[in-house]
Amino acid sequence: MTDILDTGLSELDRARLDFRADLLDAGLLIGTASPGIYGRSGTFEAILSDLDRVLTEMAAPLRATTVRFPPVYPRVDFERTDYIASFPDLSGIVSTFEGGDREHRELLAAREEGRAWDGWLHPADVVLTNAICHPLYATLEGRLPEGGSVYDVFGYGFRHEPSLDPMRMQSFRMHEFVYVGDPDGSQDYRDTWLDHAMETLQSLGLPVDAVPANDPFFGRAGKMLVSAQLRENLKIEIVVPIYGDLAEATAIASANCQRDHLTAGFGIHTADGEVAHAACLAFGMERTTLALLRTHGLDVESWPLDVRARLGL
Ligand SMILES: [Zn+2]
Repeated sequence: MTDILDTGLSELDRARLDFRADLLDAGLLIGTASPGIYGRSGTFEAILSDLDRVLTEMAAPLRATTVRFPPVYPRVDFERTDYIASFPDLSGIVSTFEGGDREHRELLAAREEGRAWDGWLHPADVVLTNAICHPLYATLEGRLPEGGSVYDVFGYGFRHEPSLDPMRMQSFRMHEFVYVGDPDGSQDYRDTWLDHAMETLQSLGLPVDAVPANDPFFGRAGKMLVSAQLRENLKIEIVVPIYGDLAEATAIASANCQRDHLTAGFGIHTADGEVAHAACLAFGMERTTLALLRTHGLDVESWPLDVRARLGL
């Protein structure tokens, strides 16, 4: 990476590369050949799981149903979201080999000659999970109980966003607390739990702020979705300054009103038979861990005592 450092980098890019280099030097992250794909050290994982325990304790009053899904989910369910329309650039589709001996020989010959061999692969019946609540929605078709339901979902998500900014990984974990029920309930849920999330993150010494935000919808049609999302205040991000004045503060969590955006496609209805609305409180686990390291320093031993006590570190 050092050769990149020489060429006309902005101050912000330099700050991102410095943060990345510090994390790698400290052994907290382990670099790989792909930008945004890292190994994590034991210390990094210890912080992340302590943080996760704090978040789970915060959410205890929700009495959420816990569900876990793998980092891939069925392509037929992916088709029921509009993800490929809104975020084609972020999607990751899995390919597998389904040929016979002849195709395998052709693939090997191409590989031997240093040519592309992935043309012999075909899209599999699974895709990489982009948002970890999507596999959940796919299982909720039908009627919800009276008062709706709340789910605790945790898992790896994938976003094709190669970047040298360690805050922007391609493969990362999210912990989401998802409400599905009637429209008023979903708005209340979002507002109430945004407040709880802010308090909890403040108790960890993070200088958080809550700001209206939008998803990175793709292309010209996406611009309208961006402005609607902002105008209707559907997405609030919890942000922490990572690069000082050089960049806007970075999102580590978000509280979203999804309305019937996903629930309609998945045929999820309230007890009264109306299309359900959803709201979710989502924490980026790597981002929040990195925000703690950025705020309190890379040496966990020297973190403020109250923060260490809160995390049980
Ligand atoms: Zn979600």
